[in-house]
Amino acid sequence: MAKKQFKSESKRLLDLMINSIYTHKEIFLREIISNASDAIDKLCFISLTDDKVGLDRGDFKIVLKPDKESRTLTITDNGIGMNKDDLENNLGTIASSGSLKFKQSMEEKQDDIDIIGQFGVGFYSAFMVAKKITVNTKKYGEDTAYCWQSSGADGYTISEIEKENAGTEIILEIKDNTDDENYDEFLEQYRIQGLVKKYSDYIRYPIVMDMTKSRVKEETKDSDKPEYEDYTETVTLNSMIPLWQRRKKDVTQEEYDKFYSEKFMAMDKPLKTIVTSVEGVVTYKALLFIPSVAPYDYYTKEYKKGLQLYSSGVLIMDNCEELLPEHFRFVKGIVDSADLSLNISREMLQHDRHLITIAQNIEKKIKNELTSMLQNDRENYEKFFNAFGRQLKYGVVSDYGMHKEELQDLIMFYSSSEKKLVTLSEYVDRMKEDQKFIYFATGENAAAIDTLPQTELIRSKGYEILYCTEEIDEFTLQSLMTYKEKKFCSAMNDDLGIETEENKEDEENKDALLTFVKETLGDKVAEVTASKKLVSHPVCLTAKGGISFEMEKYFNSVQP
Ligand code: ADP
Ligand code: MG
Repeated sequence: MAKKQFKSESKRLLDLMINSIYTHKEIFLREIISNASDAIDKLCFISLTDDKVGLDRGDFKIVLKPDKESRTLTITDNGIGMNKDDLENNLGTIASSGSLKFKQSMEEKQDDIDIIGQFGVGFYSAFMVAKKITVNTKKYGEDTAYCWQSSGADGYTISEIEKENAGTEIILEIKDNTDDENYDEFLEQYRIQGLVKKYSDYIRYPIVMDMTKSRVKEETKDSDKPEYEDYTETVTLNSMIPLWQRRKKDVTQEEYDKFYSEKFMAMDKPLKTIVTSVEGVVTYKALLFIPSVAPYDYYTKEYKKGLQLYSSGVLIMDNCEELLPEHFRFVKGIVDSADLSLNISREMLQHDRHLITIAQNIEKKIKNELTSMLQNDRENYEKFFNAFGRQLKYGVVSDYGMHKEELQDLIMFYSSSEKKLVTLSEYVDRMKEDQKFIYFATGENAAAIDTLPQTELIRSKGYEILYCTEEIDEFTLQSLMTYKEKKFCSAMNDDLGIETEENKEDEENKDALLTFVKETLGDKVAEVTASKKLVSHPVCLTAKGGISFEMEKYFNSVQP
């Protein structure tokens, strides 16, 4: 039988794929199963109005059958099937422009083979693990069944076969192990089970496999030396209904908590579970969690931000960074949108209009949830803030202050008068009538700032002071510059703007005293001036030139 050639574009991609050293070979199974599920969707839809299909919703399934002896893995579905034209058009070419763009991006970035692994390119990905693929298929409503066969880039054949029912059977002849590549694993039941759980757990039809299990022989049950025997059990590998597809009122918090800890290997209980369902220009569902404690590696490079991205229940990406802004990188969760295609590369995804819209919505949603937590559940918000407040402050400072507006009402500082964390808005609401500035003071900890002479005058006026005890605090306020049109004022560095009554006699003696101190201290100080900040203390230190001692300490510590 004459071999037909793949259309040229497909051929290039095939070559590329087959010859790639691949870290994500395993995604072929996700691709094949997704296709089977799509095919079942189509026939299932027809069966709603056409009794001749003879199948009910519950009859549809995908069957996996690994066979070590023949080195084959067979994936069978009772979906719509394919006729000859379908085989030519669907398996003979990669027609979608998506694949084309993907290929172009690959040619520009030859060294980043990994991106195929992240996304797969549909049916063809099976050639990563199979030396030969046979597709036996019969289209619903037609009489002739066909067999499509190919060993890769050198083309394919199509012949007629006998097949009773509509549907498709895909037989993968698994490659032999090489020195550096293991293919045997794709014939192992437990490995296959693991792959289905990882990538295809939420496929809506059962994915079943006969699994060999071991049990104690009935007749040796009570003896000292129990004997074991193998038996076969048909196991449904997927759980089918994703938690995020269920309505919030039908799911208990325990179920969400369990999902959170299993999915993200987290030890804590989430502080907040956010469920959203959006329909419109883009349709998606999201299930998000705000952790109650920062993961141990949170403030290191090891920590990976991002949400899991699904397309109709099929995992596309484990950590989609594009979905979260840096200042909300603590959020964990998943997004599922049917508007995103499986066959999409990382490069394309970054520019995907849908994805950008989803990310914007999610950012707003998180902001609103945090705001409402701050207003209605202060205790939990403080817990949250202790874990991730630093992140929000970094957010204010970063990107040239681009996120100031968004974040300024979410950040908190320790207050001299309230003796707890307060927001800027609370501070401003409490400001005295004659008070010009929002005062802050910097120090190691609250106790140290409590005794700072520089803060005496401010305290004596009954004004509140925000304590900057972390490096980022002072940067944050400096970067904000103002809040509700009130300027920030450093107790240590700035003119406090507080009128004091001066004593004539003091004034006259001042110069002699200042000269005396300057001469005594010499080069140790730049300047000696009369301070208006003091009430009971005789002296205090002031940093010159806009940066405080604390900041200076910080800069010294980060210098190599
Ligand atoms: P995509 O799924 O994105 O269309 P694939 O390369 O995965 O791309 O599959 C190509 C096409 O082959 C599918 O669109 C479908 O028409 C057909 N196909 C693949 N597998 C099956 C199957 N099991 N049953 C019916 N059609 C299939
Ligand atoms: Mg597909």
